[in-house]
Amino acid sequence: MLDNALKLIKELTQHNYKAYIVGGFVRDYLLGRESQDVDVTTNATPMEIQEIFQNCFLPTEDYGSVIVKKYGIRFEITTFRKEISYQDHRKPVEIQYIDDLYQDLLRRDFTINTICIDENGEVIDFLGGRDDLDRKLIRTVGDASLRFEEDALRILRAVRFATVLDFQLDQDVSDAIREKSYLLKDLSYYRKKEELDKIFVSGYAPRGIQMLLDFHLDKPLELEHLSDVKNTDSLIGIWSILNVEEYYPFSNNEKELMKNIRIVMDLNNYDPMALYQYGLYVNSVAGEMKGLDKKKITESYHSLVIHRRSDLAISSEDIMSCLHKEPGEYLSDVYKDIEREVLYHRLKNEKDVLLKYIKEKYASVG
Ligand code: ATP
Ligand code: MG
Repeated sequence: MLDNALKLIKELTQHNYKAYIVGGFVRDYLLGRESQDVDVTTNATPMEIQEIFQNCFLPTEDYGSVIVKKYGIRFEITTFRKEISYQDHRKPVEIQYIDDLYQDLLRRDFTINTICIDENGEVIDFLGGRDDLDRKLIRTVGDASLRFEEDALRILRAVRFATVLDFQLDQDVSDAIREKSYLLKDLSYYRKKEELDKIFVSGYAPRGIQMLLDFHLDKPLELEHLSDVKNTDSLIGIWSILNVEEYYPFSNNEKELMKNIRIVMDLNNYDPMALYQYGLYVNSVAGEMKGLDKKKITESYHSLVIHRRSDLAISSEDIMSCLHKEPGEYLSDVYKDIEREVLYHRLKNEKDVLLKYIKEKYASVG
C-alpha cells in the first residue's frame, strides 16, 4: 500500500505540486497497523487534482477534499488549508487554501495525525508526533480546550484513538474533555455515530466504554444505557442495548433487528419458541450480550423439530378439510398451537397425529 501511495503522490509532484501522505495511514504504518485508506495533503487545489486524476469524487460533506480511487485504494486528497472560522463547534464554515505544509499540519487534531511521508518515503515530523506514538499518547496540536471548542468532534476522536490504539490521553486532553464535553450535544448524530462505531468495534471496546463513562460523556451523547453494556462482541447488540435509534441514524433493517434483539434479550435464548420465532441470528446476538454459550444456542436452534411453518407435516388445506371450514382467522390460532406443541415435543410432527389433535380440539368449537 505504501508503494502505491508513493506512486500517487509522485504523480502530483511531477506536476510540480507539493504532496505528502498524512494522517491515519502514516500513523498506522509506523505502528505496524493496517489502514483502510490513505489521506494525502497537497497544495494542488481540488480543480487541479481533478485535472490530474481520473476516477475523482467530490464528497458532499467535506470542503476541499477529492476522493481518488486508484490501485484499489481510496485516497482522500485534501488541499493545504487554514480553517478560519467555525460554527457551533462543528466543521469549519470558512477555509483558506494555503501553500505551506507546516500551516496545514497546525490545523490537524492530534500530533500523531500530523506525521507525513514525502515522495521519497522520508518521514516528516514537525510536531513531535513520533515521540507521542512511542509514548502512546494522544496530544492535541495546540491548546486542547481551544481545539475542542473549535470542533467538539475532536473530543470523541480523542477517545476513539485512545481506545483503538490503546493509548493514554495527555493530561491536558483529559482536562479539556471534562471542560468541553457539553459541546458534544450539538454535533450531528451521524458524526457521533461514526466515532462511536469505531470505539465499539475495537478490540479495546470495554476500555473505550469505560472512558466514555468516566468522562460522563454518556450524558451529552444521550446514551442513557451505556453502563448496561457489559459485553462488546456484537456492534448491533451494543446499539440494541443503547436503544437510541429514535435519534441516531440506522437503516430500517437495523431498526427492526434491534427491536427484535431487545425483545429476545428478555427471553431464554435456548428456548425452542424464542429460537423458532426470532431465528438464530437475533438469539445469538442477544445471547452474546448476556454472555451465554453461543455454541449451545446454535445447537438448540439446529435441534428444533421445525424451523418454519412449512416444515409442519400439514398444510392449511389439511386443516380446513379436517375441520370442514373455509379459510379464516382461526387458521393462525391453530397453527400457533400446533407449532408450540411440536416444538416442545408434545406432538410428533406427523400428519395423522396433528390432524387427530386438531380434530379433537377444534372440531366442536364454533
Ligand atoms: P482513520 O482514517 O484511521 O479513521 P484518520 O486519522 O486518518 O483516522 P480521518 O478522518 O481520515 O482520520 O482524517 C484524516 C486526517 O485529517 C487526520 O489524521 C487529521 O490529521 C485530520 N483531521 C480529521 N478530522 C479532523 C478534525 N475534526 N479536526 C482536525 N483535524 C482532523
Ligand atoms: Mg484516514
